[in-house]
Amino acid sequence: MPKVIERCEPSSVVGTFKCTGGGHPVLSHQSNVVKACGSTLEISLHQLFRTKDYDTCAGPNGYVTFMCPVCGVETDISGGQYQVEAANLRSKEEYVRILQAEKDMHLRQ
Ligand SMILES: [Zn+2]
Repeated sequence: MPKVIERCEPSSVVGTFKCTGGGHPVLSHQSNVVKACGSTLEISLHQLFRTKDYDTCAGPNGYVTFMCPVCGVETDISGGQYQVEAANLRSKEEYVRILQAEKDMHLRQ
């Protein structure tokens, strides 16, 4: 077996997004938009999750959202050119749990 120097996973990268705090009505709330740091981020599929609010326009599966690693604000990338099905993603609760587990693991090392 050849030794893997750097693993290339180009298919998992969804695109480059700016942290705006924008998106669906709950995320676009004024305080969220003000807190957003404006960083430009390369987002992979495993960094996306589903969010929901009370807007029925979202359909049964909710919105596609990422969380900025710099400021922690969520930005919604649903619709438009991004062909990511919210149904295929983790729920936000699951995403946060995994994130926390990774942090805990890091602290223990
Ligand atoms: Zn940010």
